[in-house]
Amino acid sequence: MINPEWENLVKNIHNHYHQDFVPLHEPTFGESELNYVTDCIKTGWVSSVGSYVDGFEKALAEMVGVKRAVAVVNGTAALQIALKVAGVKENDEVIMPSLTFIATANAVTYLQAIPHFVDVTERTLGLDPLKLDMYLSSVGSMQNDVLINKETGRVIRAVVPMHTFGHPVELDELIAVCEKYHLILVEDAAESLGSYYKGKHTASFGKVNAMSFNGNKIVTTGGGGAILTDDEALANYAKHLTTTAKVPHKWAYVHDEIGYNYRMPNLNAALGCGQLEKVEKFVEAKRKLTVFYDDILSKINGVTLFKEPIHTKSNYWLQTILLDDSMNRDEVLTYLNEQGVMSRPIWQPMHTLSMYENCPKGDLTVVESLNKRIINIPSTPLNVGE
Ligand SMILES: *Cc1c(COP(=O)(O)O)cnc(C)c1O
Repeated sequence: MINPEWENLVKNIHNHYHQDFVPLHEPTFGESELNYVTDCIKTGWVSSVGSYVDGFEKALAEMVGVKRAVAVVNGTAALQIALKVAGVKENDEVIMPSLTFIATANAVTYLQAIPHFVDVTERTLGLDPLKLDMYLSSVGSMQNDVLINKETGRVIRAVVPMHTFGHPVELDELIAVCEKYHLILVEDAAESLGSYYKGKHTASFGKVNAMSFNGNKIVTTGGGGAILTDDEALANYAKHLTTTAKVPHKWAYVHDEIGYNYRMPNLNAALGCGQLEKVEKFVEAKRKLTVFYDDILSKINGVTLFKEPIHTKSNYWLQTILLDDSMNRDEVLTYLNEQGVMSRPIWQPMHTLSMYENCPKGDLTVVESLNKRIINIPSTPLNVGE
């Protein structure tokens, strides 16, 4: 399997990054980040109130093209609250791809709701709208305007597509499926800041949507997330819930329900304000990296570089190799990692994890196949500058 072409790939990666060990993805910071964070420290506004949180929320909402963004402590919390304010209740089933990061399933579980796994398509690495439609028509039954899972008797309430490695899913088709079955759409856009579907930014299609700014994402606040929506009332409710449901008052501690302490600290938002200024440069650099990899990988048998789906502009957050069936994933992973080129398989599919193996699920043939064939390779954007 390992022939001179693979050795050439490794050599080129080391030359590109000038590093003996090349990590999968590292954050890139500049002067603005340093200045804004320093400003927090100098003024003492490091914690739960301060102007950077407001600034970050405004800049993010503007970039995504939604009315409101609510900044929170991480992407998982953002998803949990997005689902809650969108209308997911205890015992509801929530459709999601089995091929996702654990947070998508956990956020649903935190609400006492049940993840329900369906297949993805090789076109996008995300939910397959056609397969979803056919599946729901066989497993579901519309009763009083809600979709009932005939096998479990529970309500299927929402669909959470995830834009894998930044590549947008087929949103028009998914929205049509959601309308047909009266399902709420909530995008897990944790990986897709800077990614567009038909010219419109991801995280602006669902009723309420979530993003992550963890250290490994395209833009980081250290740790952080955001809830995005065009619905002012839901945004206000999300803000209320994530700030311990405290009723605004000059001095009294009155809370009107069990809320959460999920607010993003000002220090993290300051870092995020600096990072957001660079999103376009990050995306441009990532797309250049795709061209660099494509040149080399197109000469290697048995592999292809995954490219953005039709009608989309992807942020190419993580560069992705797809192996042919003839290739052994673990052999490639072992080789690359031994050569100091950090490489990773995709997440173990949700329906194979012990906590989630008994959840409802459809046919997952494509997930099973992709699981054995996907490898992420170093994806840090270079020469981003100020
Ligand atoms: C990163 C990520 C999250 C969660 O974000 P955290 O900030 O790490 O909590 C959720 N879903 C997906 C698909 C992610 O990649």
